[in-house]
Amino acid sequence: MRTIGERVRLTELGWEKDLAYEVVNEAVPDATGDKVLVEVEACGVCYRDLIDRSGRFPFLQMPITPGHEAAGRIVDVGPNVQRWKVGDRVASLHRDYCGECGACERGDTCFCTRASWVLGLLADGGYARHLMVPEKALYPVPDELSSVQAAVLHCTYGSAWRGLVVAGGLEEGQRALITGANGGVGAAGVELAAKLGATVVAVVRDEKHRALVTELGASEVIVDRDGSFHKHPSLEKVDVVLECVGKATFNASLRSLAVGGRMGLVGNVDPEQAALNLGFVIVNGLTIRGPGGCTPRDIDGIVAVHRKHPLRFLIDRELPLSAADEAQRLVRAGGLHGRIVLVPSA
Ligand SMILES: [Zn+2]
Ligand SMILES: [Zn+2]
Repeated sequence: MRTIGERVRLTELGWEKDLAYEVVNEAVPDATGDKVLVEVEACGVCYRDLIDRSGRFPFLQMPITPGHEAAGRIVDVGPNVQRWKVGDRVASLHRDYCGECGACERGDTCFCTRASWVLGLLADGGYARHLMVPEKALYPVPDELSSVQAAVLHCTYGSAWRGLVVAGGLEEGQRALITGANGGVGAAGVELAAKLGATVVAVVRDEKHRALVTELGASEVIVDRDGSFHKHPSLEKVDVVLECVGKATFNASLRSLAVGGRMGLVGNVDPEQAALNLGFVIVNGLTIRGPGGCTPRDIDGIVAVHRKHPLRFLIDRELPLSAADEAQRLVRAGGLHGRIVLVPSA
């Protein structure tokens, strides 16, 4: 009998109570309809998991298993499943999509308004040995990637790709600036932008991150603690900003853009609203675009880059699933080099 096994539960909002770790010896339900059962081999710990835990999404269901960055292998498929079979290696998207609406037909499945299976918010997510999801909440994992690498593919590289390429229209030879450049999405952005042939300016909060972001491909590193890096004497205006922080760096990012510059806005760490100088945007012809989540098409683009110029898949550390609470607190404290990935015990 296949048992539910290890899982982590969010039972109370906030940081006073730890996430609950439990081992459940009941049988896993059979996959029904279009559902697929995945045996999870790795799950990334995302800043969004912390936002979920903080209660910033009023529609959050509790108790719930957090996590939307799971990778593993399919062990059961429902009778209506068309695209997967037992044994396939897969990883999760943030949520499913309908495949039929205008957004889906354009390939922007992340903007599908008929999606209902939102991992970690409306449906149990990947901090678990087993994950049950609709078949459209998954994408295939290329053979050359490990499950730990695949766990950080869609939400770090995918968010960076959406911000830089889809929202920012970044092209070879252009200049890109990336805030929060040592974090999961930021580091992926530095790597991707450099491999796409851009000149990369990395903004970090601490000198200790300089070596890392330089190694990932940054040509210039600005250490900034007060959101004034746009005044740095060496900074030349950039074509694209990947804004991975939010309010603290938003204004300096905007003022770093050249005329006609584009910002891919992916970070929103501080729940406070940011002020926006409307005239500055109008006069300089700037674009600020929220790129949404990553789509299967974006994954194909990233994998194509990886095959030409291998990506590093920066992992700060791997921790057992039982350390999920500690992992979230480490992310909350900041200063990591890439993602923490949770690994269920075999
Ligand atoms: Zn994520
Ligand atoms: Zn749709």
